[in-house]
Amino acid sequence: MTRFGTWLRAEPDGIYCPPGDFWIDPGQPRPRALITHGHADHARSGHGTVIATAETLAIMAARYGPQPGGKAVAYGQPIRVGEVRVCFYPAGHVLGSAQILLEYAGERIVVSGDFKRTPDPTCPPCVPVPCDVFITEATFALPVFHHPPAEKEIAKLLDARASAPERCVLVGAYALGKAQRLIALLRAAGYERPVYLHGALTQLTRLYEALGVRLGDVQPMAGLPKAALKGEIILCPPSALADRWSRRLPDPITAMASGWMRLRQRARQKNVELPLILSDHADWGELTATIGELAPAEVWVTHGREEALVHWCQQKGIPARALLLHGREDEED
Ligand SMILES: [Zn+2]
Ligand SMILES: [Zn+2]
Repeated sequence: MTRFGTWLRAEPDGIYCPPGDFWIDPGQPRPRALITHGHADHARSGHGTVIATAETLAIMAARYGPQPGGKAVAYGQPIRVGEVRVCFYPAGHVLGSAQILLEYAGERIVVSGDFKRTPDPTCPPCVPVPCDVFITEATFALPVFHHPPAEKEIAKLLDARASAPERCVLVGAYALGKAQRLIALLRAAGYERPVYLHGALTQLTRLYEALGVRLGDVQPMAGLPKAALKGEIILCPPSALADRWSRRLPDPITAMASGWMRLRQRARQKNVELPLILSDHADWGELTATIGELAPAEVWVTHGREEALVHWCQQKGIPARALLLHGREDEED
């Protein structure tokens, strides 16, 4: 039996809050939407008023065009939406990503959106927010998902590059968050050569730079002769890995940066020679440690492998249930 959060409704395409008359990350256009972050399964176009961080609004504008109904909120600055007190906190997932704290009727509910606890040079770290109900994502909520240290994966990438000077390394990385984090991690590892981009990654990478994330020398690869790309690192969207497009590259070592690369089968399916396990989502250890740290009265689970996390919570004596929201499985990571 649920005791908390009777004032929040989990609908198939999002969470609706009647006393605030708003939706969180709705899958369809709604008059008033609170958006946790810019990934396409959370931030759709066509809402009336959009309440989000300035960075998320900028990402949405880059993807969908101007957002006339956008209202920017700063982290840690509470606002009132209808009868509900709302406050955004960093989620550590991608630039601008937020967990949303809702306060109403003496209860505190946190919607995590997507989050990770591992440090990320491209966004502020996740802030755990004490609450009665923690609504958590569960993208990698199975014990098999243990993300290795990012530095280790970056070292694998640099080793592969160094060992094949006649080839290039082509890394599939999602356009929002992963590509920029990968570049920032390369810089942190001391790599100073230009990083080359497929055209589909340019716009959001430039936006990150405009928003103050320093990425060093990043260049479009378009127009460069094959020979000039020997020994270089090139990033592309995962869909371009198997494309005819890559034939213009010098014998690429095909890599992919994703939490899903933990599964060898996925790497094989995608013909990935160099799987890099680099995720922007909490792994099993981070999910369970976060719930342990917050010790909420209830946990609601969404976004992936709900069952295992619900079971874990129940074993720890924390009432938990799965919210079945549509279209949130297997997020691009
Ligand atoms: Zn996301
Ligand atoms: Zn997501």
